[in-house]
Amino acid sequence: MEHRHKVFPIQVIVPHTSNPNSFRLNESGLHSVLGHSAIANKKVVIVSVAGATRKGKSFLLNFFLEYLYALQNSQQNDIQLEWLDEAVQLQGFHWRSGAKRDTVGIWLWGEPIMIEAANGEKYAIVLMDCQGITLENAQSSNQCSSIFALSTLLSCIQCYNIVDVIQEDSLQNLSLFVEYGRLFLNEAQQFGKPFQNLVFMVRDHKSPEEFPFGAEGGEAYFEQVLENCPDSLEELKVVKDNLRECFEQIFCYLLPHPGQKVADRNSFKGYVKDIRPMFREEVKKMISSLLNPHAIKPKIVNGKEVTCKKMIEYIRECARLFYK
Ligand code: GDP
Ligand code: MG
Repeated sequence: MEHRHKVFPIQVIVPHTSNPNSFRLNESGLHSVLGHSAIANKKVVIVSVAGATRKGKSFLLNFFLEYLYALQNSQQNDIQLEWLDEAVQLQGFHWRSGAKRDTVGIWLWGEPIMIEAANGEKYAIVLMDCQGITLENAQSSNQCSSIFALSTLLSCIQCYNIVDVIQEDSLQNLSLFVEYGRLFLNEAQQFGKPFQNLVFMVRDHKSPEEFPFGAEGGEAYFEQVLENCPDSLEELKVVKDNLRECFEQIFCYLLPHPGQKVADRNSFKGYVKDIRPMFREEVKKMISSLLNPHAIKPKIVNGKEVTCKKMIEYIRECARLFYK
């Protein structure tokens, strides 16, 4: 397949060859993404997508790519933003069918995409794809929780991808992962809220009559999930308080099913025209509300906005804490 983007994702958190349950940092890979002198002093925005395995995370990231490159183009050439033409073939992050897990460790898009925010400053936007969460056994669940915790520490928008409904156990897991990540923060970061944005992305939402697709339906749905938990589930109250304490903002988007051609994995080649129009519309609305020039804010560590140069150090530091 010819690649339009000419850039590829780079695995920056890599399993050890001797012990695949442990990870290491790919220094040169990290450097190739964030280490160019031209962007050293630009502030960085890291957008991560994490959640259960084989649920369309990598697939969705390609829509983020389409949007960011189109936005960049519209800004550079002073033309109207138009994106996701029917003829486009989605590419970039590798998505696949089948039972074997695809994404392992943490991957970054091979270059930051420079976007001018509403305040006139240019930010380096970096997309992050994370290993899917499986809790089959203690080892894999340890591995996954470290990946989730690390990606939460590194990103300023953490997208938690969920299929169908937000179940109590996925909230509990989320809360554990976040709590785990928080352990690695130093005291200075324990003041105020340690993390910035958490976005629940609910795929294949099935009751749009009750909760319409998009952000407002999502907000109402999320409130209902939290309010309607049975009294017996005292832990869920803790989860709720915990999430609200940890994140500055929590969003929830309900997305429709992408259509049979996408779900029927073998024949689907990524052409936008083969994706259900309603799905395209909702994804477009979601991404442009999360990443429009007025919405984007750089990553904050220790109360300070982080540059690409500082981000390299921070990633090193965090990787060292997790994978000594
Ligand atoms: P990941 O493991 O979460 O990164 O999942 P992938 O992005 O590799 O996608 C797994 C499969 O799910 C692909 O074959 C996609 O065609 C399909 N898929 C992608 N998005 C959706 C969705 O929103 N709903 C459904 N039902 N399938 C999807
Ligand atoms: Mg994937």
